[in-house]
Amino acid sequence: MSDWLTRGLDHIWLPYTQMQTAPAPLPVVAAQGARIRLADGRELIDGISSWWTACHGYRHPHIHQAVEAQLAALPHVMFAGLVHEPALRLAARLAALLPGDLERVFFTESGSVAVEVALKMAIQYWRNKGQPEKQRIVYFRHGYHGDTFATMALCDPGEGMHALFAGSMPDQIMAELPEDETMRRAFDLLLDTHRERLAAVIVEPLVQGAGGMKMHDAATLAFIAEACRRHGVLLIADEIMTGFGRTGRMFACEEANVVPDIICLSKALTGGTLPLAATVTRRHVFAAFLSEDPAAALMHGPTYMANALACAAANASLDLFEHESRLAQVAAIEAQLRAELEPCREIAGVADVRIKGAIGAVELSGTIDLHALRRRCVELGVWLRPFGRVLYLMPPFIVTPAELATLTAAVHSVLAERAEAL
Ligand SMILES: *Cc1c(COP(=O)(O)O)cnc(C)c1O
Repeated sequence: MSDWLTRGLDHIWLPYTQMQTAPAPLPVVAAQGARIRLADGRELIDGISSWWTACHGYRHPHIHQAVEAQLAALPHVMFAGLVHEPALRLAARLAALLPGDLERVFFTESGSVAVEVALKMAIQYWRNKGQPEKQRIVYFRHGYHGDTFATMALCDPGEGMHALFAGSMPDQIMAELPEDETMRRAFDLLLDTHRERLAAVIVEPLVQGAGGMKMHDAATLAFIAEACRRHGVLLIADEIMTGFGRTGRMFACEEANVVPDIICLSKALTGGTLPLAATVTRRHVFAAFLSEDPAAALMHGPTYMANALACAAANASLDLFEHESRLAQVAAIEAQLRAELEPCREIAGVADVRIKGAIGAVELSGTIDLHALRRRCVELGVWLRPFGRVLYLMPPFIVTPAELATLTAAVHSVLAERAEAL
């Protein structure tokens, strides 16, 4: 084993990992296109795009050149009182790309913080408008919005870390996704009952990601937006996972013709190269912070916000969406997932198969042995990481049909082998 590996492993703490029982992590030395290369020379096709970030695959030359050029000029400068070209270009491009008058961009460095900023904005929006009692947030079952305290309080109580940290988190209001008439009446009633203390509703449009790849239709999303408008509650769209083409449109909200008051972006924003997030608001939200009163300003500012390298990467990523046919690739991936993943329904132990854009999820009726699954996937030459009972594929958009076929075949194999053992 390499020196850095033997020495370092005793000092690293891995995410979501029981460090006593987990197998050693796999050392990666390089990545190219849809493939990750391990230190021992083996290659794995990445079925989940490094937690949904690497939409153009790894080491896209256009992003590399942009980051290198930016590195030579200005890697970073603080963003208070100072600005720079990559951030301003990016802000203007995001404003042009996003629907409606979502036009004012606040940069941060992670998705959770982008959501925290959205929550602060929503609460202070009402305070600035003379309604300081509007502070509560409505979130949905199966939702996931991050790992920090305020965002944990908005994650599914059954799946998230609610129980562990109950008492340390703000108390928010959970709703069911209003997918039918009865649930729509219930949701309407919920907003009506709490309207005086509600600041915002937060939703992952069309696909709830880390909470289990649950999918809802555009009509449900449109209903949520309409109900928010009727009851005077802001709508926050958490498009950290769905943004930048994943569901088939550039942003999932577009499919329902919804313009949320605030939208959160991250994951694929830089094409998986550097950490960056953005909270973007409509004009009227920003306007509520304009005042002679200094206390009406938004008091937030991460040290590395609007990092110039990350903004350069994001601009290069947007170039690729303009010049390469990403959305057509997503449509082709969706068709192939339908053809190759749907048949998994027939396998014993499979409860559901859900497909939307470049997302294919297989939900099982029981849990998966994560360690055994990883071992088998590596043998099959693929990299997957399920959560709970959901095994899913979210490949880079540049995945080739043959690579995607290898991924779907691997899912099929591990499920069939599991069914035999049931
Ligand atoms: C990943 C994710 C987050 C959190 O982003 P981090 O960068 O991990 O903090 C929030 N919301 C959604 C929908 C996500 O998928």
